[in-house]
Amino acid sequence: MEEIDLRSDTVTRPTKGMLQAIMTAKVGDDVYKEDPTVNELEEKLAKMFGMDQALFFPTGSMANQAAIKLHTQPAEQLICDKWAHVYNYEGGGVSFNSGVSCKLVDGDRGMITAAQVEENINPPDFYHSPLTSLVCLENTTNKGGGACYDLEEIKKIRKVCNTHNLGLHLDGARLFNALQAKGESPKEYGKLFDTISVCLSKGLGTPMGSVLLGNKDIMKNAIRVRKVLGGGMRQVGFMAAAGIYALDNNIHRLDDDHKRAKEIGAVLSAQSYIATVETIETNIIIFYLKDVSQEADFMKSLQKENIRISNMGQGKLRIVTHLDYPEEMHQKFLEVLKTITL
Ligand SMILES: *Cc1c(COP(=O)(O)O)cnc(C)c1O
Repeated sequence: MEEIDLRSDTVTRPTKGMLQAIMTAKVGDDVYKEDPTVNELEEKLAKMFGMDQALFFPTGSMANQAAIKLHTQPAEQLICDKWAHVYNYEGGGVSFNSGVSCKLVDGDRGMITAAQVEENINPPDFYHSPLTSLVCLENTTNKGGGACYDLEEIKKIRKVCNTHNLGLHLDGARLFNALQAKGESPKEYGKLFDTISVCLSKGLGTPMGSVLLGNKDIMKNAIRVRKVLGGGMRQVGFMAAAGIYALDNNIHRLDDDHKRAKEIGAVLSAQSYIATVETIETNIIIFYLKDVSQEADFMKSLQKENIRISNMGQGKLRIVTHLDYPEEMHQKFLEVLKTITL
């Protein structure tokens, strides 16, 4: 029986079309900036977001870490939500790579407000506390279950950043999910942020790669920082070709992932063993069993059907829909959920 892997949208494998694009890519040494396909991908994304420059990175973590380095000096502080990926899931890189601390904000599903940003800025002339220099937002939020920011709130945060001379970075690992769900355009985001990282290997389905976007001034040192972090790559146009293919073919289909996520949520909500399903805005479903002690049994019932999901601990379970979860698998999964009894 074919495995149904719903742990993450990173488990996808390249499709035939994407493999074809990879196989036929023109490549060169990207450390010399001589890989035509990497250059094409970077130009394509910069244009899409209306930003000056883009730089290809092996991972989203490295793109975020480079951005934080570009915005800060050691001993400074950035403001982010307590659930932020940059704080929780990048191995402590904020302190290791940039010598910066995080002021954690108690936001809503991973999202913070302009008022919260303002409250958390240390007074710049009070030299006892770290100098606040950067705000990091995440859209969609990972730990927040794929929640999307309200663009109006981001505009307010931008204003606060302008008033207090703070940089504004977006961890947009799943930004295309947010744009698609909200009907927003990349250019609206390009106007509001100093830097944006986007992942090509999540919902867009490439084997690897993220891109950091930014305006000229801030990006001036980006290639040097990438080198320092060990992210200079050679004939990586093969992977950039997958990225170009993904941008051309895999953005609109994110709607399917969102639709299926909502359908899974509806079926889960109707099951007697489920306590709550969090609001589903994109491709992530977070839910809780009524009885946490039944978790192992629940996971076992799924395993028997060759279905994998994530257990995030403390009764929190997660399902993520993606490119390698087509309609027939979806129908099968819904049937399995309806037959489980705990
Ligand atoms: C996946 C992800 C990243 C980057 O992860 P990598 O595995 O390093 O590519 C960054 N931010 C968020 C919110 C993510 O979900």
